[in-house]
Amino acid sequence: MAAPEIKYTQLFINNEYVNSVSGKTFPTINATNGQKICDVQEGDKADVDKAVVAAREAMKVGSTWRRMDASQRGRLMNKFADLVERDLEYLARLETLDNGKPLNSSRAGDVPVVSKTMRYFAGWADKVCGKTIPVDGDNFCYTRREPVGVCGAIIPWNFPLGMFAWKVAPALCCGNAIILKPAEQTPLTAIYLGSLFKEAGFPPGVVNIIPGYGPTAGAAIAEHMDIDKVAFTGSTEVGKLIQQASGKSNLKRVTLELGGKSPLIVLADSDIDVAVNWAHQALFYNMGQVCTAGSRTFVQEEMYDEFVKKATDIAKKRVVGNPFDASTESGPQVDKEQFDKILEMIESGKKEGAKLECGGGRKGDQGYFIQPTVFSNVTDDMRIAREEIFGPVQQIIKFKDVEEVVERANRTLYGLAAAVFTNDINKAIMVSNRLQAGTVWVNQYHNVDVASPFGGYKMSGSGRELGEEGLHEYSEIKTVMIKIPEKTC
Ligand code: NAP
Ligand code: MG
Repeated sequence: MAAPEIKYTQLFINNEYVNSVSGKTFPTINATNGQKICDVQEGDKADVDKAVVAAREAMKVGSTWRRMDASQRGRLMNKFADLVERDLEYLARLETLDNGKPLNSSRAGDVPVVSKTMRYFAGWADKVCGKTIPVDGDNFCYTRREPVGVCGAIIPWNFPLGMFAWKVAPALCCGNAIILKPAEQTPLTAIYLGSLFKEAGFPPGVVNIIPGYGPTAGAAIAEHMDIDKVAFTGSTEVGKLIQQASGKSNLKRVTLELGGKSPLIVLADSDIDVAVNWAHQALFYNMGQVCTAGSRTFVQEEMYDEFVKKATDIAKKRVVGNPFDASTESGPQVDKEQFDKILEMIESGKKEGAKLECGGGRKGDQGYFIQPTVFSNVTDDMRIAREEIFGPVQQIIKFKDVEEVVERANRTLYGLAAAVFTNDINKAIMVSNRLQAGTVWVNQYHNVDVASPFGGYKMSGSGRELGEEGLHEYSEIKTVMIKIPEKTC
C-alpha cells in the first residue's frame, strides 16, 4: 500500500506552521530501509521561547481561552476527536511510515486511543470540582481547581499518538496551554495534529508543537522558568534529568512515566495456553517497545518445560515484515540505535549462559528488523533479566513457590506493571497485593484503560496519567477562606 503524503513538517506555534528560528532541519527515517522520509524543522531553545510567549498570551486573564466555559472546552475537544476519526486512515498510515509499527496496530490501536482519550477528558471538562470544607470558626472555606498554566510535554517514539493524547487531553480539559516535543524519531503525527486543533477552533497558543532533539528542545522545556509543569515519558535516565532541571529552575511540577522490567508470573494451576498467549503479547506487542512489556516471564517449575516449548512455537510463527502488509504482526525496531542495543543485549544473554530457543539475530539485510527471540534458563542476575531491552526478546525464568516468586519479582528498581496467571482467586489477590507495581493484571496483559490511573512505583516514575488521578496532575488547588461577619443585616 502506498505511503501517505507528508503535509506538514514545520513547528506549530500560535496556530501557525513556522520554520525554526535557526532554520535547521533534521531527517526522520523510515525504519524498514534506513532511508530518509523527509526533513523536519528542528526547534530548540529559541523556538521554545516563542511557544512560551504564545502560550502565556493564551493563558492571560481575560483571554478567549481563560474566559471559555468549561463545557465549551469539552465541545472543542470532542470536535478535535471527530477530526481524528475523520482522518483515521491518514493518521494510521503516517504513523506506520514514521514509526514502523504495523498498519493494523496504528488503525485499531494508536489512532483510536487519541479520540478515546480526548473524549474521556472532554467529558471531565465541566466536572472538575472543588469542595466546601467545614473549617473551624466563622469562615466559609472552599477549594477551586485552577489550571497549572503552561504545561510542557516531552514524549517518546514508541506510541507517538497515544503519548501525545495522554498529555494534551488532560491539560486542555483543565484549561492549560501546552508545548509538546515529540521524539526525534517520530515527529510527523504530532505535527499533523496541530492542524486539527486549529480546525477544531482552539484559540492560538493553546497547543504548540516543537519537533527537535532532547538535549536542546527537550532540555529548554524542562529548564524553562516560565513553564509551570512538565510531563515526561521515556527512559529513567532522562527522567532524572527532567527532575533535576525542574529543581535547578523554577521547581515546575513534574510527572514522569519511565521504564520497567515488568514481571509476568505464571502459576502452575493456570491454563497454559491462555498464559502462553498473553505472555507472548505482553512481550512482542509493538516489537517489544513498550514500557510495560512483560520482560521477565516467571513460570512455575511444574509447567516450565511445556511453557517454554509452546512460547517458542508461537514466537517462531510471528510474522515480521513490511508494516503496511495486512498479515504483518511485527515491523522493524524504531531506529538503528535501538536495533544495535537490542542485538547487544541478545549477545549478552548468549554469553551469560541463557539458552537461546529461537531467533537471536537480525532479520533480513535491510532496515531494523529483529527475529522474535526467546531465552529459557534465564537467571535473575543476567543482564537480560535486569535491564530494559525494549525489543522482541522474551526471558523465561523458573520458580518454585509463590512466596519466592513475589520476592524475586519485586527485586528490581522498577515498578511499572506486573501480571499473575492463576485460576485460584485467593492467590490472584494475594500476589496482586504484594507486587510493587502501578498496575497489576490478572489473567491478561496490556489492558490500559483511559478511565483508570496509570503510572509507576519506584524508579518507574512519579505521578499518574489517565483517570481522575491523571486529571488532577493538571490543576492546582486553591483554598479560599472567607470571613463570615458575626452580624449580618
Ligand atoms: P529518551 O531519550 O528518554 O527519549 C524520550 C524523550 O525525551 C524524547 O522526546 C527525547 O528526545 C527526550 N529527551 C532526551 N534527552 C533529553 C533531555 N536531556 N532533556 C529533555 N528531553 C530529553 O528515550 P530514547 O533514547 O528514545 O530511548 C532509550 C530507552 O528509553 C529505550 O531503550 C527504552 O528503554 C526507554 N524508553 C522508554 C519509554 C517508555 O515508554 N517509558 C519510551 C521510549 C524509550 P530525543 O527525541 O532527542 O531522543
Ligand atoms: Mg534519546
